[in-house]
Amino acid sequence: MEIQRLNDLQTLVSLSKRRGFVFQSSEIYGGLTSCWDYGPLGAQFKWNVKQAWWRAMTRRPDIVGLDAAILMHPKVWEASGHVEGFTDPLVDCKNCKNRFREDTALVNGKVICPKCESSDVTEARNFNLMFKTHMGPLESEGSVVYLRPETAQGIFVNFENVATSMRRKVPFGIAQIGKSFRNEITPGNFTFRTREFEQMEMQYFVKPGTDEEWFNTWKQLRWDFYKTLGLSEEKLRYEEHGPDELAHYAKAAFDVQYEFPMGWQELEGVHNRSDFDLSQHQKFSSKKLEYFDPATNEKYIPYVIETAVGCDRLALALLCDAYREEITHKDGKKDVRVVMGFKPELAPIKAAVLPLSKKPDLQELSHKIYSDLSEGIDVEYDEAQSIGKRYRRQDEIGTPLCLTVDFDSLEDKKVTVRHRDAMTQDRVKMENIKSYIQDKLKNFDQ
Ligand code: ATP
Repeated sequence: MEIQRLNDLQTLVSLSKRRGFVFQSSEIYGGLTSCWDYGPLGAQFKWNVKQAWWRAMTRRPDIVGLDAAILMHPKVWEASGHVEGFTDPLVDCKNCKNRFREDTALVNGKVICPKCESSDVTEARNFNLMFKTHMGPLESEGSVVYLRPETAQGIFVNFENVATSMRRKVPFGIAQIGKSFRNEITPGNFTFRTREFEQMEMQYFVKPGTDEEWFNTWKQLRWDFYKTLGLSEEKLRYEEHGPDELAHYAKAAFDVQYEFPMGWQELEGVHNRSDFDLSQHQKFSSKKLEYFDPATNEKYIPYVIETAVGCDRLALALLCDAYREEITHKDGKKDVRVVMGFKPELAPIKAAVLPLSKKPDLQELSHKIYSDLSEGIDVEYDEAQSIGKRYRRQDEIGTPLCLTVDFDSLEDKKVTVRHRDAMTQDRVKMENIKSYIQDKLKNFDQ
């Protein structure tokens, strides 16, 4: 058997639409560029990804969760440096009127229009990536608020609230999942870069001087997390930011990169943000954000080690990674089985209940099995089409197990369990089916 992995994003875009993972936003109106909607399976899949991250973070005794508002006091973005510095340099081509980012169009130190290759371009103007809106009924200068471009600031401004209410001692972390918005100039590559996206960020507050050690610890922990999600290790790597690539706040930064079909790209950033954020908020808000260490009687502004990953981007990496085509030849005919080889914890559906035919007694028995299992397991009932086509559909959406209810089931009270990867089949007693599935999902052998 020949295995073909995903080598172009378009294949995944089609599968995502066909099977209900991701749709173009506002499609009936012609779509809105670079905006995507998660369909029923995509929404469940993304939820599973978020849960895996949330659990990995908050099951630690030293990390607590937060859910801050998207709209924040405008001063937050002055303190964070976003009003001043969250910009991309834009130039216009005088020849073809194309507008593009200067830093992505440099050829031998010269700016060349990527569309018409003219070098006759305007001076660069800085374009702020934050979405602006107005709060309240009046669109005045004083009513401007921003849609947050990152979730991190919600964590920093709540540092004191969380530490006090949760009686936390440094070192401790705050984890958050939420939407962020950036008016990206060059969005694209499906859900890789969009203007509205979800982030999963964790800010870990540490004593100055221990930051480098914690930075290395988090680098390792994040790598381990990706391995437990089942991402292929040969498609993961760490890239260090050189001194000229470091953001204004960062002391050190590493990207976890994944090899997408369009090449190696950032998946997550692990940053040593020093005491920049809390110091800035202390300065701009005039509220003391120092931490008093009762063990040593010291006062200091904690350093922050940040881990920041896009939920949509991670979901995309997992979709790319899970995709495989199994190609076989029989009697001169080529057969392609498409499988999404998700780890069971990420699969949107864990088991499908499939009556062999639409005969009422098979339907009745299948419904019973479905309703018993659906308490506690994400199961699906499907009786449309031939059993072969239904198996193929479940393979394509990554369902680890299929339960087929046939005429023998009426007599022997057993169902056939088909395994997604090996395609082997077991006959299992109905009374044991729930524990059988739970056990197989836990000890899944891919
Ligand atoms: P990039 O260089 O790709 O623009 P960044 O370095 O600006 O990303 P951060 O600000 O560190 O990204 O954000 C943390 C994570 O949030 C990124 O690693 C990425 O996974 C995700 N992310 C950032 N911008 C977008 C976007 N426009 N669409 C989807 N995910 C994004």
